[in-house]
Amino acid sequence: FQNQVRPGIDRIQPYVPGLTDDELRRRYGLKRVIKLNANENALGPSPLALEAIQRELGQLHHYPDGGSQFLRDEIAGFHSVDASQVLVGNGSDDIIKLISETFLNPGDEVVVPAPSFSQYQFGAFIMQAQVKEVPLGPGFEYDVKALAEAVTPRTKLLYLCSPNNPTGTYLRHSDALWLLRQLPEHVIVVVDLAYNDFTERRDRVVDNAELLSDPRVVALHTFSKMYGLAGLRVGYGLASADLWGYVHRVREPFNVNRVAQRAAAAALKDSAHVEASRQLVQASREQFSRFADVEGLVAIPTEANFVLLRTGDGVETTRRLMERGVMVRAGFAGLAEYVRITFGTLEENEFCLNELGSVL
Ligand code: PMP
Repeated sequence: FQNQVRPGIDRIQPYVPGLTDDELRRRYGLKRVIKLNANENALGPSPLALEAIQRELGQLHHYPDGGSQFLRDEIAGFHSVDASQVLVGNGSDDIIKLISETFLNPGDEVVVPAPSFSQYQFGAFIMQAQVKEVPLGPGFEYDVKALAEAVTPRTKLLYLCSPNNPTGTYLRHSDALWLLRQLPEHVIVVVDLAYNDFTERRDRVVDNAELLSDPRVVALHTFSKMYGLAGLRVGYGLASADLWGYVHRVREPFNVNRVAQRAAAAALKDSAHVEASRQLVQASREQFSRFADVEGLVAIPTEANFVLLRTGDGVETTRRLMERGVMVRAGFAGLAEYVRITFGTLEENEFCLNELGSVL
């Protein structure tokens, strides 16, 4: 099909799924595998979501509500916005792709921080847009001046991720506002807040009324991290009804399944689960930071539910940990010396750090 595929498709690397925990268990004959490689919630799904899922199962012969109205109303109430400002997706991945498909023409430019979440680039590639990577600063902090300078008349989208995956560093609200003042009207700014629930920094970027009143801003959220529903695939975006009006034309009618809609709405109300998750992440940060101090390792200060540790050869460290049943991630562009470890339960963290100490 080489002559039939759209230009550029042959240059995209297909997504290669890593080993599952089951495969790893079998491969090395391990008794125990802990999964600290995908920034999931160590406390599992919200119990309120599980109850909602149970209640919904008898309805599976019916299509979902194609407008996700119930969930959108709940999200709108949660953020004090109108439901028309909420779009839900099959994970925020879905929304990133939808925004790309709705707005990008071949040759348009997409400005992304580097390193950051890979799906921003994927969205550009599938539409034959050009990616312009803007490196984070020496401590992986945002360089908003460099981001502003990367924008040209061809820039259509600019992504910000706070706290950033995979560095855990965050963007200041004042810097986001400064950047918006520098940007021309034609640049849509996507602020990905997937991990924002884990930071309590007073100066962090938040999608308050001030930010959302800018018609160029899209804020992304997910139920995959704090709410522990990664397997169900639900995310949402907040933006103007006008912007979503175009995205709705591209969206599949049933992009969020019935169970996911009900589970997400229930999880949003599960403040006990959220609070426990937040406290666990806080305690985990301290646990990893103590370990780094004792071992003399660099740990990048993190505002997320994961941490980047400099171990010398990240891929080799990952391989050794995998053999011992601890799944972590490395191999991020420009981060050869680092491993990214998602925080687990305190006991899982202890197990991970013991194994890490023994392979360093
Ligand atoms: N944004 C960021 C920064 C992420 O790290 C992830 C998940 N790895 C996503 C979005 C996608 O989340 P979802 O599961 O909602 O598609």
